[in-house]
Amino acid sequence: MATKTFEDLIKDVHERGICQQCGGCVSFCSSAEYDIINFVDPYSPPVYINEDDCLECGICYYICPQTRVLDDELNKIYLFEGFSSMPIGNYLEIYSCQSNDKDFLKNGTDGGIVNTIINYLLEIDEIDGSIVSKTEAPFSREAIYAKNKEELIDSSGTQLNISPQLIELQKFSTYTHTIPELKNYKFNKLALVGTPCQIYSIRCMQSLGVTPSENVKICLGLFCYENFLFDRSQLDKFEKDFNIEFEKIKKINMKEDLIFQMGDNQEPHKEMHIPFNYMKDYMRVACNACDDFTNIYADISFGGLGSPKKYTTVIIRTEKGKLLFQKVRDAGLIKLRGISDDEIFRIQNILSAFSKKKIERKEKFMKNLNINLKL
Ligand SMILES: Cc1cc2nc3c(=O)[nH]c(=O)nc-3n(C[C@H](O)[C@H](O)[C@H](O)COP(=O)(O)OP(=O)(O)OC[C@H]3O[C@@H](n4cnc5c(N)ncnc54)[C@H](O)[C@@H]3O)c2cc1C
Ligand code: SF4
Ligand code: SF4
Ligand code: SF4
Repeated sequence: MATKTFEDLIKDVHERGICQQCGGCVSFCSSAEYDIINFVDPYSPPVYINEDDCLECGICYYICPQTRVLDDELNKIYLFEGFSSMPIGNYLEIYSCQSNDKDFLKNGTDGGIVNTIINYLLEIDEIDGSIVSKTEAPFSREAIYAKNKEELIDSSGTQLNISPQLIELQKFSTYTHTIPELKNYKFNKLALVGTPCQIYSIRCMQSLGVTPSENVKICLGLFCYENFLFDRSQLDKFEKDFNIEFEKIKKINMKEDLIFQMGDNQEPHKEMHIPFNYMKDYMRVACNACDDFTNIYADISFGGLGSPKKYTTVIIRTEKGKLLFQKVRDAGLIKLRGISDDEIFRIQNILSAFSKKKIERKEKFMKNLNINLKL
């Protein structure tokens, strides 16, 4: 079989409208200092910027989460028999917890656990920094390299001089090309926070032993049901669709649905829940072609689903993840919510139900597009 190239990626993925813009192909290709492909428009798939220089190596095709060429290799490592429990993947432990650090807890989307773990790794010099995501401007979230607590908190976006409502929406409305940022930190030890599509691509690179994945010491994966494309022109429609006054939104969370915490003098703590299937007009279309909700290839996965407000659900997947979480616990940095076996069973079930829903959505979408699940 002839080696597939970026040309084939355009045909098989971009032209079918299923590029998830994870940035994996750009991250690998540009780490070798070639300017061959890149994102030109932040809301569109990457393009050739120097096609003549393409080496036709095919790595971009191999590491794309939509071609799934390396599924079998990854599954041998991350879904080993005996421990695998699809559809939520292999796991060793499940917790519901929150940070003991008041800054991380206050600024965290849920329990502030992801940033607490990154900060611990920085303090004990296990990593030099972490690729996280920061609000740069209204509706624009950029990947950044955070080296200390201040930068981690700053990346939550709350320091910016724009309205809090916009900041909250930006947490989910625009996509961060997290992994291309990796190429700038070749000789550093990094933690990487990412959505399932991003972590998949990094794991493919690690499985092939290609740069810049060797810098990633730990993969911290976020649950992700879908992501949104929001621009200002859609705000009016959004307010009308859901009868929400945008300026009253204080916080947005994603769990089993989209949760808006409203706040004004009359109704200071009102919560509105919008089911994901009501958000179709704002969703990134390519997210329909994605079937991993709980980030099954991460070392540790994090989400709000399954836990109460201001707590994070944590799935420990690998031995590396288990050791790290144990150290963070021993250092007294997090508070575990005491949960019984029944409660763990309940969390497993709710995560499984959501994962199945996502798998079914993908199957339906691919069938309508007439695309085989494996290209
Ligand atoms: C697009 C998206 C969709 C999600 N969907 C769901 C869902 O459907 N159900 C659910 O239960 N949970 C979902 N989550 C996860 C949830 O919102 C929280 O991120 C998770 O519970 C961790 O919360 P925390 O308070 O422990 O993390 P924190 O301590 O607040 O840390 C989060 C860290 O992640 C970084 N970050 C966020 N997004 C990115 C990104 N794209 N690339 C790199 N770094 C990033 C932030 O900068 C921050 O450093 C989603 C997250 C995202 C980004
Ligand atoms: S050089 Fe290789 S990785 Fe880069 S675009 Fe060409 S085929 Fe893809
Ligand atoms: S690797 Fe990511 S950005 Fe590149 S084509 Fe595939 S989905 Fe799109
Ligand atoms: S649903 Fe989440 S993980 Fe899947 S493609 Fe969209 S952003 Fe990536």
